[in-house]
Amino acid sequence: MSTSATLAMAAKARELRAEGKDIIGLSLGEPDFNTPDFIKNAAIEAINQNYNSYSPVDGYVELKEAVITKFKRDNNLTYTLPQIVVSTGAKQSLYNVAQVMLNKGDEVILPCPYWVSYSDIVKVAEGIPVEVKTSIDTDFKMTASQLEAAITPKTKMLWFSSPCNPSGSLYSKEELEALAGVLRKHPNIYVVSDEIYEHINYTGKPHASMAGIEDMFDRTVTVNGVSKAFAMTGWRVGYIGAPDWIARACNKMQGQVTSGTNCIAQRAVITALNAKPSVINYMIDEFKTRRDMVLQLLEDIEGFKTNTPEGAFYVFPDVSFFFGKTLRGKTIHNATDFSLYLLEEALVATVTGDAFGNPDCIRISYAASQEQIKEAVKRIKAALV
Ligand code: PMP
Ligand code: GLU
Repeated sequence: MSTSATLAMAAKARELRAEGKDIIGLSLGEPDFNTPDFIKNAAIEAINQNYNSYSPVDGYVELKEAVITKFKRDNNLTYTLPQIVVSTGAKQSLYNVAQVMLNKGDEVILPCPYWVSYSDIVKVAEGIPVEVKTSIDTDFKMTASQLEAAITPKTKMLWFSSPCNPSGSLYSKEELEALAGVLRKHPNIYVVSDEIYEHINYTGKPHASMAGIEDMFDRTVTVNGVSKAFAMTGWRVGYIGAPDWIARACNKMQGQVTSGTNCIAQRAVITALNAKPSVINYMIDEFKTRRDMVLQLLEDIEGFKTNTPEGAFYVFPDVSFFFGKTLRGKTIHNATDFSLYLLEEALVATVTGDAFGNPDCIRISYAASQEQIKEAVKRIKAALV
C-alpha cells in the first residue's frame, strides 16, 4: 500500500516550514476558509447540551434526515433512512464500500486521473484498479466507448468523482447518460459516484448525479461530505446514499471498526445540511476568482499546458514539456521530479500527477489566498528559467 501522496506532500511542506523555509502549500485540497459561524455555534450548543455518548453507528436519525433533505433538495434523489450511512469523512465512506463490495480479484474501473486514495482503497480490499487513461485534450473525461472497452467479466464497479479531484472536470448529465448507456448492458456493475465537490461548480449549470440517471439509482452509491463545501475537513463527516443492502453492509462494517463518527461534529452537520446551499456562495465566488487568476498566471509560463477546470479547486497542468530538461543541474525525468524541483527550488508544494494515475501532470490546489497564489506562480516562473 502506498502513502497518500497528498498527505505526504502536506507533511513534507510542514517539515520544511518547521526548518524555517518559507513554503507556499498548494498541495492539499483543503479550503482555507473558516467553518461558518452558524455551524460552529451548533457544535458549541451540542457540547453544552451534553452530546457526549456514542451515536448510532450510521449516524443520528436527525442527521440522516438532513442528508435525505439535502439529497432531495440539491440532487432530486429520494433516499430513505436505511439507505444513508454517515461516516468519519467521505474517505471512510469509500473505504466501507470497497470492503463490503469487493472480493479478491474484482476489477474496479478508475477513469484517470482519479482521486489519490481510490486505487489504494481498492487494493486494500483485494480489488484490482483498472485505469482508463484520459488526457487534457478531452478535459480528462472518460468517454462511453472507453468505458465499454475497459469492461471485462471481472468488472465489479466504476468509481469516479465529478467535479473531479484532481482535474476539476465535471460530467454533464448528457455525458453521464452516455456512460449509463454502457452500464445498462452490464447490470452486474455498480457505480461509486463521489460528489464531494458538487457545490464547487463554476458552470452555472446544476450538478448532475449518476443516481439520477434512468436505471442507475439501484446500482449507484452516492458519496458526499461536508469537508469541501463547508470548510470542515477536520470535523470528519461524510456520508453515502446507497441501495439498502449496501448501506446495511457498510453499517455492519463500520460498527466493527470505528462506530458512529464524532457526536459533536454530527450535530453541527445537521445545521450545515439544513441550511440553504447559497450560504456558502461567498467561498465558491472566491474559488472562481482564484481559478481564473491561476489560469491567467500560468498562461505566462512556457511549458504549462492547462485546460479550464469547471469545478473543485485544482488545476492539473500537463508539464511533460519539461521532461528530459536539466534545470539548475537537476534533470527532470517525470512529474514527480518536477514537483520535487518546484518544492526545492521555488519553495512551492504541489502534487505529482503520478499519484492520480497521470504521470504527465502536476496538481496545483488554489485553495490558498490570492497573494499566496500570485507569489507561488512568480516563484515557479523564476525557477524555470
Ligand atoms: N473524495 C474526494 C474526491 C476528495 O478529494 C476527498 C478529499 N479529502 C475525499 C473524497 C475525502 O474527503 P473527507 O474524508 O474529508 O470527507
Ligand atoms: N482530498 C484532499 C486532497 O486531495 C485532502 C487530502 C487527502 O485526504 O488525501 O488533497
